[in-house]
Amino acid sequence: MAKQQQVVIVGGGVIGLLTAFNLASAGQQVVLLERSNVGQESSWAGGGIVSPLYPWRYSPAVTALAHWSQDFYPQLAEHLYTATGIDPEVHTTGLYWLDLDDEAEALAWARREQRPLSAVDISAAHDAVPVLGSGFARAIYMADVANVRNPRLIKSLKAALSLLPAVTIHEHCEVSGFIREGERVLGVQTSLGEIRGDQVVLAAGAWSGELLQSLGLALPVEPVKGQMILYKCASDFLSCMVLAKGRYAIPRRDGHILVGSTLEHEGFDKTPTSSALESLKASAVELIPALAQAEVVGHWAGLRPGSPEGIPYIGPVPGQAGLWLNCGHYRNGLVLAPASCQLFADLMLGREPIIDPAPYAPAGRI
Ligand SMILES: Cc1cc2nc3c(=O)[nH]c(=O)nc-3n(C[C@H](O)[C@H](O)[C@H](O)COP(=O)(O)OP(=O)(O)OC[C@H]3O[C@@H](n4cnc5c(N)ncnc54)[C@H](O)[C@@H]3O)c2cc1C
Repeated sequence: MAKQQQVVIVGGGVIGLLTAFNLASAGQQVVLLERSNVGQESSWAGGGIVSPLYPWRYSPAVTALAHWSQDFYPQLAEHLYTATGIDPEVHTTGLYWLDLDDEAEALAWARREQRPLSAVDISAAHDAVPVLGSGFARAIYMADVANVRNPRLIKSLKAALSLLPAVTIHEHCEVSGFIREGERVLGVQTSLGEIRGDQVVLAAGAWSGELLQSLGLALPVEPVKGQMILYKCASDFLSCMVLAKGRYAIPRRDGHILVGSTLEHEGFDKTPTSSALESLKASAVELIPALAQAEVVGHWAGLRPGSPEGIPYIGPVPGQAGLWLNCGHYRNGLVLAPASCQLFADLMLGREPIIDPAPYAPAGRI
């Protein structure tokens, strides 16, 4: 086992929480700092599809993390449920993509990656999803795509951390800068005073770039606003996820249906807008006409940690000994979290990494 160190983690989204869980489970002492309550930002706001929306459009770097995570999610959920009694509800529903422009690329990718994605007759899609709108001509389907109920995932991760004696969580603790000595980072300045550690991990989602600026580093992570709406239907109303023109509907087990999402560059503003509400309702009704009669029971926005090509930064920061990044997961932080946090712990603890860490290394990218 690696020598025990004190690790300070900045940010209590899915990435910070799961990083804390992996490090503490491997015997490290962890202090997690969150400026509000854990898991209230992007990790709460997201849809929780356990796949990139269009997996064939991503680089092999994103695909490698996604595949490892997809295989691992059921075990993670089972483990958290057993430990805490809170079920993250990994719900394997399958996903229909409708009227894609790049269907041929999708099918070629699936053959190459050996994923169970195939073209289906549109009438078969209607048989499987009777509430599907009639305006679609073509469909492809992947049976093993799941969604995770992300607010519950966060809750169960927080509960699991509270059972580990080596973990301290400080909520309402805002990090404002780093404590440095020469080339070494020794801790952080916070609203509760200085907190020191052997290692500091930046997992502050969309805010990670802002924090690194104080060290004179330009990390290209920027907020990308996404709005989402929620319906509540009967639990058997929609059995599969469906996606067309960048908009999707996700059924939870209890009949809640999430419809998302917008992609907006509005800085750190996350106010839900009436124009997005109308646009999301129109997409919902195009996908599933019966939703015109359903009430919208929720509408919110979150800030994705946007990064070039959606490739996260995972690893040590060159020239800043003791400082590490696990951030920039853009549209895929929920699906990529298990692999990203496992890879992160492998690197910090000097273990054999689960996948080649080179594409995610901060060195040369900031
Ligand atoms: C509408 C929408 C839909 C999405 N759908 C999906 C999907 O279907 N599948 C998928 O995989 N991903 C999805 N995502 C993306 C996913 O939600 C994110 O990539 C992921 O949650 C990022 O996690 P994180 O922990 O890095 O960031 P966050 O969850 O934002 O956590 C960062 C935390 O750091 C804290 N923090 C920031 N600055 C400081 C500071 N100075 N001091 C202390 N704490 C600080 C914040 O308060 C926050 O809690 C979606 C996102 C949105 C907005």
